Amino acid sequence: MIRTRFAPSPTGYLHIGGARTALFSWAFARKHGGTFVLRIEDTDLERSTPESVKAILDSMEWLKLGYDEGPFYQMQRMDRYNQVIQHLLDEGKAYHCYASIEELDKMREAQRAAGLKPRYDGRWRDSTATPPVDVKPVIRFKNPIDGEVIIDDLVKGTVIVQNTELDDLIIARADGTPTYNFCVVVDDWDMEINHVIRGDDHLNNTPRQINILKALGAPIPKYAHVPMILGHDGERLSKRHGAVSVMQYFEDGYLPEALLNYLARLGWSHGDEEIFSLSQLVEWFDLKDISKSPAKFNPEKLTWVNQQYIKATDNPRLVELTKPFMEVDCCNPAHGPDPEKVIGLLKDRVNTLKELADAAVYFYRVLEPHEDLKLQHLTAEVKPALSDFATKLESIEWKQEAINALLKETVGAHGLKFPKIAMPLRIMITGETQTPSIDAIIELLGREESLRRVQNHLQ
Ligand code: GLU
Repeated sequence: MIRTRFAPSPTGYLHIGGARTALFSWAFARKHGGTFVLRIEDTDLERSTPESVKAILDSMEWLKLGYDEGPFYQMQRMDRYNQVIQHLLDEGKAYHCYASIEELDKMREAQRAAGLKPRYDGRWRDSTATPPVDVKPVIRFKNPIDGEVIIDDLVKGTVIVQNTELDDLIIARADGTPTYNFCVVVDDWDMEINHVIRGDDHLNNTPRQINILKALGAPIPKYAHVPMILGHDGERLSKRHGAVSVMQYFEDGYLPEALLNYLARLGWSHGDEEIFSLSQLVEWFDLKDISKSPAKFNPEKLTWVNQQYIKATDNPRLVELTKPFMEVDCCNPAHGPDPEKVIGLLKDRVNTLKELADAAVYFYRVLEPHEDLKLQHLTAEVKPALSDFATKLESIEWKQEAINALLKETVGAHGLKFPKIAMPLRIMITGETQTPSIDAIIELLGREESLRRVQNHLQ
């Protein structure tokens, strides 16, 4: 049975890279009918915050990346880590190291001076010396001194690291708290994780983690290290590349399935498929299709994907999704034309739900008097035509075609060009200069409200 996990550190908001890692682990578990575990790695007390934990949980919920077990919190597992550390000490696989900070600094300086890479030299590894009374010891893991660690990475291929390149890792600090790499090992073991899918910034940690797992007699999971996501300039992805936290996309009116679709294509592909559902992703997902080179984040492409999803989403659901944004705009879709029809008219013209709500505002809210600039269209030349149009609007059949025919008839009768009357009408009715066709808007808005808005400006 496949068991994967997503193990974020709550030291900031969940970002695009984290969400993609979560998606790949989730999709792999779902594809194989396995279990997806959520683990919050909150041992960095200085940088972990409850807000970040909440942002992670909210993001997972919004994206509907359901986990089968968890969330587990490392801070609640301290007893277990200490127990395993004691076990390693008892077995002679870990030891107390009393080297002081000053002493270690000197050691590293000497190594550098000799042209060597600084690394702990194992001075307390098999020492029988009497420990100094004034130094609180750390606990180090006895890394094998020879041989090599072979990682058959499911994305990167075979990676071999010589044990001579690894020193004896600190697994408990002088204050007794276990270190990050050690907690990960114990967790992956206890949670029976057999596929570790994570960013390749963790590849350096893997040989050390494997050595500890081996010392514990624990099974070694398979690893898949996913290349980073970069900005368009090849630098590590950041806000300046237009990438924001997952929940910011929620606030900006992206659909969760659009974001996931876009994220899935960042570093993974199934032929040339661009738009696909989550269930298609699960069906197609294979770790071997993850690209070996970093993906580049393209915010315009993400917006395009979102637009495709908005176009394809049915009107009742779009209304539900757009309502909260309309409330922000202070308009109530219950007071005005049928929101499904309004959304249907506007949805092909917008990129986000927020834009959709903004575009619908004039149907539900009486707008402020127009700016002078906009009113420059309402000239003495067109006023009589508009007035004539308004009068006839009172009695025509209430249908877009009839409204359109009346518009044409009016411009003909007054010797005007169509835009001459359509533009001021549009501004009077919507307050905007760019909208869907004005006859469609008038029909939706209704006779009474349309006339009211026109008459207001003609007085
Ligand atoms: N907590 C780590 C991070 O947020 C992930 C560790 C792991 O996946 O092994 O980068």
